[in-house]
Amino acid sequence: MDARKIIIAVDGYSSTGKSTFARTAAERLGYVYLDSGALYRGVTLKGIETGCVGRDGIDAARLEECLHGLDISFGRDGQGRLRTFMDGTDVEDRIRSIEVSSLVSPVAELPFVRDFVDGILQQYGREKGIVMDGRDIGTTVFPDAELKIFMTADRKVRAERRMNEMEEAGKKIGFEEVLANIDERDYIDTHRKTSPLTKAADAIELDNSDMTLEGEMDWLRGILFSKFGICI
Ligand code: C5P
Repeated sequence: MDARKIIIAVDGYSSTGKSTFARTAAERLGYVYLDSGALYRGVTLKGIETGCVGRDGIDAARLEECLHGLDISFGRDGQGRLRTFMDGTDVEDRIRSIEVSSLVSPVAELPFVRDFVDGILQQYGREKGIVMDGRDIGTTVFPDAELKIFMTADRKVRAERRMNEMEEAGKKIGFEEVLANIDERDYIDTHRKTSPLTKAADAIELDNSDMTLEGEMDWLRGILFSKFGICI
């Protein structure tokens, strides 16, 4: 492992495997992994729990109030798995529910929510040696990141993977519902006014429709070595 520390921004469409890619890369590099989507999901869960986010809409003024003093952080559980904590409680499973998935993108459109999340992310990013995944990391959160990766994959492949992931977690859900959720989130994420999902001019695209995780790591290894002299 090389001593040189850089920031790696991993952006892309929903369910392209950004988190698995980013988490594995961070583990192999000895870097910190940060899942920015988990923070948007945490804010959404808080909104659902307090009744200001629901299928009928969002009470933005009340949600903004709820964010004052809200603590969302990352840690590990007894088995060493990365988890998201909200005000000290492990909410990892709850933020991955289809309910949160179906409400998170409109919440993430709100400028005050983006400011709240960016504040947390930028604190973590004061130190180099991080891999962060999301939608606007290379464009807005860390526009100076040394390496920017933009992930894509066929939407049906993505829906299939997401459905399998949810099944493994014990949640049965139909392919069409997962596909509709992915399409909807992609649409909202690419069309919103504040920090829309877009490929940074200096990002390298990775289409992983037909790739295994090890194939992705080989691809990354080549880039890290040729561009930065970093070995993993
Ligand atoms: O990455 P994940 O799918 O968990 O993110 C959940 C949602 O959070 C996305 O659909 C997107 O609407 C929002 N998000 C965002 N900007 C980020 C990360 C996530 O708007 N940097």
